[in-house]
Amino acid sequence: MTDQNRSTEPNASCGCKIGRISTQYEFSGLDTALIEYWTGEADDQYSTRELATYVNRQVLEAALEAADVPVKDGEVENTYRLLTDDDVSSGTRVQTRNELQRDGVPIEQVESNFVSHQTVYNHLTDCLETSLEEPSDEERLDRGAEKLGALQNRTAAVTTSTVEQLERNDILTIGDFNVVVSVTVTCEDCLQEYTVRELLEQGSCQCHESHSDHH
Ligand SMILES: [Zn+2]
Ligand SMILES: [Zn+2]
Repeated sequence: MTDQNRSTEPNASCGCKIGRISTQYEFSGLDTALIEYWTGEADDQYSTRELATYVNRQVLEAALEAADVPVKDGEVENTYRLLTDDDVSSGTRVQTRNELQRDGVPIEQVESNFVSHQTVYNHLTDCLETSLEEPSDEERLDRGAEKLGALQNRTAAVTTSTVEQLERNDILTIGDFNVVVSVTVTCEDCLQEYTVRELLEQGSCQCHESHSDHH
């Protein structure tokens, strides 16, 4: 996710926790970024859980900057992880907090400003009156096909480079070759096989056709 850097804000700050920290840290464009990331208007689409992390990293970054702590690339992400990840030992967490404190970062205040995914959700739906439109069946199919297409392309690319590498090392011999990736789905009810592309196009197995005939 890129940092929000827009100057247009849809609303003046609201009264909720996100509005409050947005004012406190002078996050311009945070609301726009949240809406775009949530609805998928931006290139990527993020869950409210991921967006909470996005907000919290910005809180941490702003606090580090306010304390004049030089921030190296990736350091905000790492420090945030050390403060919040369940896999980090309590010793490491205490040490991280102590170091931040020593650098002049008001860590207790920063942590109390961290938001939950529920807060992000409420801010988006209540304060910003945004809702996620349910994708249509067609959009879901398109997305599914896109995802599988990308996966198949990737499998083909990795296969090609693996074969090429083995051939370069004289471990394997083959002429000019062509890799085709095809995924087969078999209906356990009637044992009919489909390529996944066929199945997506058809929308149902031959044996279930009458059941899933929804328009
Ligand atoms: Zn709000
Ligand atoms: Zn079937």
